[in-house]
Amino acid sequence: TALLEIKNLHVKIAEEDKEILRGLDLTVNPGEVHAIMGPNGSGKSTLSYVLAGKDDYEITDGEILFKGQDLTEMEPDERAAAGVFLAFQYPVEIPGVAFMTFLKAALNAQRKARGEGELSTPDFMRIVRDKAGLLNVSQDMLRRPVNVGFSGGEKKRSEILQMALLEPTLCVLDETDSGLDIDALRVVAEGVNALRTADRSMVVITHYQRLLNHIVPDIVHVMSAGRIVKTGGKELAMELEESGYAGFTEAA
Ligand code: ADP
Ligand code: MG
Ligand code: MG
Repeated sequence: TALLEIKNLHVKIAEEDKEILRGLDLTVNPGEVHAIMGPNGSGKSTLSYVLAGKDDYEITDGEILFKGQDLTEMEPDERAAAGVFLAFQYPVEIPGVAFMTFLKAALNAQRKARGEGELSTPDFMRIVRDKAGLLNVSQDMLRRPVNVGFSGGEKKRSEILQMALLEPTLCVLDETDSGLDIDALRVVAEGVNALRTADRSMVVITHYQRLLNHIVPDIVHVMSAGRIVKTGGKELAMELEESGYAGFTEAA
């Protein structure tokens, strides 16, 4: 059965009468890596916010099933506990809180929501060292305040480490439309590849065809005006690199 099933999703901004997602369908099976591409303003970030349970959005029709359960009925922390991980375009800086401390709090919050006990410090240290080693995160980075003064690549590394620790079954990565340097792109690609497993699925939202040279998705979707208008294999990303989105934009 599908890990994530989105059917006929319609979403508007709660405060305005503006429909942003207009009948979006998406099915993600276990272990698949999907890329969602599309022009600026097509609703890609809105989709990731709705999956995260951000409250400025109102679902007016359709459904989102995660492991067969209604995701929209779950609070953001319940989503994390159930195995959904969302990484966002704009990492939050938290001065005064060491990255290590932040990671421990995130992991314990997830355990608490699952009805599991807190990890002891030695147990946590063992897990974080293990994952940090796998993803080339330095001890120095773990001691620094969360994202403060991190380079673009380090911010991405920090996000991927959070993802590795929480061991999600569904990872949604919404990549920024601009300003991601080659180093940061490489970190994202290496992290996604390192964490790819037979039962973990990834949805990578990106503007960059180049990122997909390193990640190699199973399925590529083009989003336009609030819905998925074309789905194909990895060759679709190459096609887009050549032709752009012009052929996919619906007439208004
Ligand atoms: P993308 O990530 O594909 O660039 P977005 O999801 O960010 O697209 O935006 C889709 C559309 O929704 C855009 O027209 C954007 O201006 C609008 N939009 C998104 N969030 C809001 C908001 N909070 N208030 C008003 N308009 C919004
Ligand atoms: Mg945008
Ligand atoms: Mg966006």
